Amino acid sequence: MTVSLETIANLAKRRGFVFQSSEIYGGIRSAYDYGPVGVLMLRNVKDQWWKSMVQCRGDVVGLDSAIIQARAVWKASGHEDAFTDPLVECRNCNARHRLDKLEDPDQCPNCGKRGTFTEPRQFNLMFKTHTGPVESDDNLVYLRPETAQGIFINYENVRRTNRMKLPFGIAQVGKSFRNEITPGQFVFRTREFEQMEMEFFCRPEEAPRWFDYWQEERFRWYTDLGMREENLRIRPHDPDELSHYSAGTVDIEYAFPWGWDELEGIANRTDYDLRAHSEASGEDLRYFDQETNERFFPYVIEPAAGATRTMFAFLIDAYHEEEVNGEQRVVLKLDPRLAPYQVAILPLSKKPELTEPASKIADSLRSEFMLEYDETQSIGRRYRRQDEIGTPLCVTYDFDSIEDHSVTIRHRDTMKQERVSIDRLAEALRDALKN
Ligand code: ATP
Repeated sequence: MTVSLETIANLAKRRGFVFQSSEIYGGIRSAYDYGPVGVLMLRNVKDQWWKSMVQCRGDVVGLDSAIIQARAVWKASGHEDAFTDPLVECRNCNARHRLDKLEDPDQCPNCGKRGTFTEPRQFNLMFKTHTGPVESDDNLVYLRPETAQGIFINYENVRRTNRMKLPFGIAQVGKSFRNEITPGQFVFRTREFEQMEMEFFCRPEEAPRWFDYWQEERFRWYTDLGMREENLRIRPHDPDELSHYSAGTVDIEYAFPWGWDELEGIANRTDYDLRAHSEASGEDLRYFDQETNERFFPYVIEPAAGATRTMFAFLIDAYHEEEVNGEQRVVLKLDPRLAPYQVAILPLSKKPELTEPASKIADSLRSEFMLEYDETQSIGRRYRRQDEIGTPLCVTYDFDSIEDHSVTIRHRDTMKQERVSIDRLAEALRDALKN
């Protein structure tokens, strides 16, 4: 089904996934805070990425570099000169737009007037600030607009200390900042966001093969976690779209409510970055191959995804409305590995003879499962909440439980219920989450 942006944004707010930032002061445009439920899901997205990119491979290691790096990094990388978007302003209504994203480059989408745009001006997206108490050009720094440069400037540290041999990768998850001209579409495009990037270093002649390999690998990551294949596609960039460093880029795109749009870019960055940092810093960042006695700059294949944007796409993809006994049910059919809570423990009523043993069961399971214990409201409303936040399994403790030492497990997608002995509960939950 296609779901509207508004429906997802409302659900996200109502259930504690995402709040407008600074809301009590009227809100700040395009900044969002992740609530108790959202922060769990966002962590799961990042953990699954880390698991597939680092934990399950022998050839990729991790890194966590600083957000504030030397200005020289961004000079050498080309960002200070070239990390720009073309900005136009409408002379009629003063709205500002990013020219390359306009459907009609001659018509203002805000007021509808034609021929009112100013000449495009290249606007640099990096946020500036200053280190130390004096604001001068000498201590100007940027908040990083991508995590990738933190990897390139640590390439030699990582290679040497971890005795890495080509081909190998360095992965990083973290915040990036871009002063976007037109943020919007909820958390799709924000000025502060999280990225999941990996730089894979290889011999230049092997770059085309690794470029193909990473496209397949990354596409499969989304479908393995339950994203529907018909909502995903790979789109190669046109030559005039390519970034200053790229010899080839494809985007993995998702069918968002407003149309196909980027989830992740996979680029062949060639040896652009290592060469640029070598030249600017004077450090020789070439790789020495002991077998062939060659010294050369490795090529780099980069899969670069957005964590917040990916979480948003998973939310959209999982959203279902169904009719059950004449009533509408909203359910997020999230993979259990992404769902905020894996299990909810629900005593049937608020009577202490139910809540006391039920909360004990919850406490005994907390170290293994991310779970929510909930004794408020009617059981029907509590199921509705768990369906809307995508909890795969609900465990109900009822009056019979006192006698038969058993509980009912309700499965989110099928709504089937099974009775399980409390002794076997952890094992039954484990099994159910695997399937
Ligand atoms: P665009 O051209 O749409 O501005 P981009 O192609 O420059 O984006 P990349 O530099 O390739 O984006 O960034 C890699 C990934 O980081 C993107 O695929 C996206 O998932 C994420 N990302 C980039 N900018 C933002 C943003 N402003 N808000 C949220 N996520 C973003």
